Amino acid sequence: MPGPFTTRLAARTTVAGGIVDLTFDVIAPAPLAFQAGQFVTLAAGTDATGKAQRRSYSVASPSDDGHHLRFLIRVIPGGAASDLVDGMPIGTEVAMTGPHGFFVLAPQHPGDVVFAATGTGLAPVLPMLAELSRRTETGRRHVYWGLRNQEDLFVPDEVTDACAAAGAQLHIYLSRPSPGWPGLHGRITAPVLESLPSLREPTFYLVGNGAMIDELKKGLVDAGVNRKKQIRTEAFFD
Ligand SMILES: Cc1cc2nc3c(=O)[nH]c(=O)nc-3n(C[C@H](O)[C@H](O)[C@H](O)COP(=O)(O)OP(=O)(O)OC[C@H]3O[C@@H](n4cnc5c(N)ncnc54)[C@H](O)[C@@H]3O)c2cc1C
Repeated sequence: MPGPFTTRLAARTTVAGGIVDLTFDVIAPAPLAFQAGQFVTLAAGTDATGKAQRRSYSVASPSDDGHHLRFLIRVIPGGAASDLVDGMPIGTEVAMTGPHGFFVLAPQHPGDVVFAATGTGLAPVLPMLAELSRRTETGRRHVYWGLRNQEDLFVPDEVTDACAAAGAQLHIYLSRPSPGWPGLHGRITAPVLESLPSLREPTFYLVGNGAMIDELKKGLVDAGVNRKKQIRTEAFFD
């Protein structure tokens, strides 16, 4: 059940241009029981009218460890929560609420599983992959990860390992790569749609940029995918 809980910032590392990797110890009540894919919220000051504002962050750590919560956060210059988490001294106590959300794995997948994530949308995919790696389902798994350029690519080795452990094929696309990028180029929407004929009873998990989610969801539904049964989404922003 979602509720308030107290945490303490234990570690912060910058893992790519503008991306911070934060670990909080859960102090009380502990541990936090959550499902892979869920998020928590924290207070981030007040808006221009003086109203308290909150921000949501997906838990990037495994759901079997409710004593520590990891977050992968893009620091938006001037953003209330970004400034807060970027400047917060180690040891700071932070009140959170959660866990929230329904962007979680289906109890069982009838066929293939496809993740389409942009930027830090990869955060909830990491624990979902960890959970999938413990399942005995036989469907194929794909992770499409869209980023702008090489500088945005965070924890690539960890993502590669998490995909390998879950038997998932990783497809990284850069929309604006710097010269010399040897990998895939462009947005993830078209390749996911093009893969559709090769998939068997797929379930899609779309997360990150709201525009990508809307476009991909529309393309999938137009191609005959059942929106309610086969698509789950988590938009981080419009
Ligand atoms: C369910 C949920 C889970 C989320 N999980 C994460 C997470 O795990 N990691 C994370 O970095 N963010 C996540 N977000 C976004 C996060 O809640 C904040 O919106 C973000 O950190 C910006 O907050 P801010 O107060 O710093 O800036 P604001 O002033 O509120 O935001 C400035 C603008 O930045 C843009 N923006 C917001 N988030 C992002 C982003 N991730 N990448 C690029 N542009 C963005 C939006 O256009 C926004 O209007 C999540 C959002 C939701 C709804």
